[in-house]
Amino acid sequence: MYFNEQSVVFYNGKFIKAKEATANVYSQSLHYGNGVFEGIRAYNTENGAKVFKSLEHYKRLKLGAEVMNIQFDYSEEELTKITYELLKRNGLKDAYIRPLITTGADMSLLTSSETNFIIQCWEWGKYMGDKLLRVKTSSFQRPNPNSCFVETKVTGHYVNSILSTNEAKKEGYDEALLLDMNGNVAECSGANVFMQKDGKLFTPPRGHIMAGITRATVIELCKEEGISIEEKHFTLEELKQADACFFTGTAAEVVGLESLDDYNFPLRWETSYGYQLMKLYKEEVLELRTKAKAV
Ligand code: PMP
Repeated sequence: MYFNEQSVVFYNGKFIKAKEATANVYSQSLHYGNGVFEGIRAYNTENGAKVFKSLEHYKRLKLGAEVMNIQFDYSEEELTKITYELLKRNGLKDAYIRPLITTGADMSLLTSSETNFIIQCWEWGKYMGDKLLRVKTSSFQRPNPNSCFVETKVTGHYVNSILSTNEAKKEGYDEALLLDMNGNVAECSGANVFMQKDGKLFTPPRGHIMAGITRATVIELCKEEGISIEEKHFTLEELKQADACFFTGTAAEVVGLESLDDYNFPLRWETSYGYQLMKLYKEEVLELRTKAKAV
């Protein structure tokens, strides 16, 4: 699904065939989860393939390397150039892009001085599909921000996301919603959350969540379109009195919720801000909004 005979990856400074890329089974990334990754999308726009918010994504990748003390010297601009070249070599315009920094063999609990870096890409549809989601409140919480850097995509953090998604799917739901250590609503296993109540949108503030690039884009779009948006903590009880709810993420884009546990969101999706923002987000990534603004 992710690669075929022809697929090319960027690996330790060279473009090579994906099938020829190998990994070290003694790597700290495999043993302890000490690695950093990103999830980026490119869109086939009228101006050719455009990597959406490439600099922001690579900035977050570099922050992850920095907090984990992993040596990583590429600039955001160099990484962006390499990404465009990789898309070209794979003949892809609509693509999901997965950069991954891994560390070398070192069984001590100190970051290895060896760094490996790969960028993979593949064609990927909407991660959470097109239908409205049935979501379960997870029995797992998001990690305490004093236990790790929650705003970075360190590979080991994703054990929490896998635990919650496994639990939700096992019980027949589509996705999991996680609370933070204080019992406030935090985010989905791999996306941020917004709720609509009485004509206003609310989303949890930064602190216990991933500072999603899609979340920031949606907040921007709200401001441009005059949609009232407030970053504010809210509880599960409050969310279960909301009119509508949606998730945002690079992979998920903007996706609506049908229900949370046994609560059905009453507002018809097509009449909610989420639906409007789903369409605006699509226009933004396809660079149709700049044109609309210009005329
Ligand atoms: N929360 C978590 C836990 C995530 O892994 C992601 C994906 N990076 C997001 C939110 C959404 O972030 P973004 O919009 O930057 O993809």
